[in-house]
Amino acid sequence: MSLVVVGSVAYDGVQTPHGQRERMLGGACTYVALAASYFTEVGVVGVVGEDFDPADRRFLEERGIDLAGLQQKPGKTFYWSGVYSEDMNDRVTLRTELNVFADFRPELPPEYRRRPYLFLGNIQPELQRSVRRQMESPRLVGGDTMNYWIENRREELLAALADWGVLLINDSEARLLSGERNLRRAAERIRGLGPRVVVIKRGEYGAALFCDHGAFLAPAYPLDTVSDPTGAGDCFAGGFFGYLAEQGADPSAGGIEPRLLRRAVIYGSVMGSFCCERFGVERFRTLTRAEIDARFQEFKELTEF
Ligand code: AMP
Repeated sequence: MSLVVVGSVAYDGVQTPHGQRERMLGGACTYVALAASYFTEVGVVGVVGEDFDPADRRFLEERGIDLAGLQQKPGKTFYWSGVYSEDMNDRVTLRTELNVFADFRPELPPEYRRRPYLFLGNIQPELQRSVRRQMESPRLVGGDTMNYWIENRREELLAALADWGVLLINDSEARLLSGERNLRRAAERIRGLGPRVVVIKRGEYGAALFCDHGAFLAPAYPLDTVSDPTGAGDCFAGGFFGYLAEQGADPSAGGIEPRLLRRAVIYGSVMGSFCCERFGVERFRTLTRAEIDARFQEFKELTEF
């Protein structure tokens, strides 16, 4: 069932121990949409500048992604660049040029407003709320955030979170948001703020799910080479939410089935792992659903005992 994704569409410059790219397609919305497109119909809400390459537009359309909500404005596309540490667990941002993203006012095409699933990528919480308000009655709303909003727009973020069903967040941000060091306690605190489902992403250490039925822990897929981790968290979100949308997950009437949520975590991990295999969105040029399902099976074998 259809999913609407909002967030940044960008050009990224990235340097890792395995190479460097000056300018490649990126942005949180792009990664979420690409990963989710293997599971469900996806429509994006974002903004790009006049420099947005028609070939990038075609690539997204060829993955079946609906770009009716992608505005093109005078000016340049959002640009971000960063450099990763030797072990790739840390990265330093070199440049953030908001460009057309600075005045982004998300506007949903009328046909998006009745769609059942909404994923709010990491943007200013007030904009996330404005998108949420434009939707008529979504079945499930999920979102992401980051330390900047937790520290600088806390009240706005708390107001936004209050009507989300799912929050995906990384471990340091979960601690910052909740004020709790222990992840289980952090998750419980956050669940008290609105989202009944909290997924804490832990990079190469996997992910932890907390919901009404308890906790579930999944490792990260042990890749032999990580080329570029940019977008892995967003691809996790796209796989997780895309799978829930594909399955028609419904939080009313007793909450989403725990089995669906657990499988969604594994699909999230699978999509995050594929993302890291190549630079930027490259892996999605050839990736197939059959490869995704094969890695899902492999996860079962890796964790069964
Ligand atoms: P991740 O590696 O999952 O954190 O996602 C990286 C993506 O986030 C890159 O493609 C960037 O273009 C995008 N990004 C970086 N900084 C921001 C920001 N301040 N707001 C929105 N998107 C951003």
